[in-house]
Amino acid sequence: MKFEVTILGSSSATPVYNRNPTAQLLNCNEKFYLIDCGEGTQQQLIRYGIKASKIDFIFISHLHGDHYFGLIGLLSSLHLNGRIKELKIFGPAALQEILAVQFKYSETIIRYPLEFIVTDTLGPAQIFENADLVVETVVLNHRIPCTGFRFTQKKRLRKLLVEKLEADGVGLEYYPLLKRGVDLDLTDGRRIINSEYTIDSEHPRSYGYCSDTLMDERYFKGIAGCDLLYHEATFLHEMLDRANQTHHTTALQAAEVAKITGASKLLIGHFSSRYKTLQGLLDEARSGFEATELAIEGVTYTI
Ligand SMILES: [Zn+2]
Ligand SMILES: [Zn+2]
Repeated sequence: MKFEVTILGSSSATPVYNRNPTAQLLNCNEKFYLIDCGEGTQQQLIRYGIKASKIDFIFISHLHGDHYFGLIGLLSSLHLNGRIKELKIFGPAALQEILAVQFKYSETIIRYPLEFIVTDTLGPAQIFENADLVVETVVLNHRIPCTGFRFTQKKRLRKLLVEKLEADGVGLEYYPLLKRGVDLDLTDGRRIINSEYTIDSEHPRSYGYCSDTLMDERYFKGIAGCDLLYHEATFLHEMLDRANQTHHTTALQAAEVAKITGASKLLIGHFSSRYKTLQGLLDEARSGFEATELAIEGVTYTI
C-alpha cells in the first residue's frame, strides 16, 4: 500500500528563497490528505502536477497564517472547478468562523459538502478513521493552540500463500477466513493450521507531523515509534533563545525528539528565512540523529 508524503512548503512565516509556507500532501493508498495549507499551496500543487480535486481531507495545525493562508483560495477553486465530492477539514474551532466570514462577504455558497471537525488542545484524540488509517492529534506547545497529527496505517489482513493452498486443494471459499487468521476444519476432515498457509502482513507504518512547537516531553508519547517523523527545525541551536521566545525548535532539538521517541527516520522543515541554504540545519540534526533528511519542496518521502 502506498504511504508517502510530498512536501509542498517548507518555510516558516514567509515565502522566501523559493521556499513556500508549510503544506504537505500525504498519500495513503491513493487517498490524499493535505496537512496544513500555507499561502501558495495551490501553485505548488500545480507545479508538481497534483490535482487538487484528489484531496478529500485537510488537516490544519494552528491559526498562524503560514499554516492556513492558502486554504480559502484552495476551497474557492474547488468550488469554481465544480467539485461535488465531500471535503473534510480538521482544525481549530475558530477556523470555521474565519472561513464562514470569507464566504459570507464574497457571497459564496460552496457547492460541495464541507464537513468541519474541530480539533482542540485539551488532550490527544483520535479524530479520523477509515479502512486505511487512523489519525490522532498530538498536542504541541506553541504560542497559540496547536496540534500535530499522527497518521497510522491499519493492520492489514494476513497474506495467503496461494501456491501452497492450491497445491493442497484448499478451496477459494476458505480464503477470507484464512486472511483473518482462523484455523480451519475442512469438510473432508483435514485441519488447516493458519500459520502454515499465511504470513503476517507488513507492520502498519506511521507518520508523525509536529509543527510548530517548543520541544516538550508531553507530546513525545503521541509520536512514539514513528516510521517517519516530521519535526519543525526553525533554527540552528545557536538560536535557542530565539527558538524558546517564539515557541519553536532547533535542528538539534528535533534530532533529540526523534531519538527519544524512537523514530526510524526524521524529516526537518519549517526553516527560518534567516537561512538561505539549509546544509547547516541538516548537519546539526544529523549530529544528533543520523537518519535525518531536509523537507525539500517537490520531493516525495516514502514512510
Ligand atoms: Zn509556522
Ligand atoms: Zn506557528
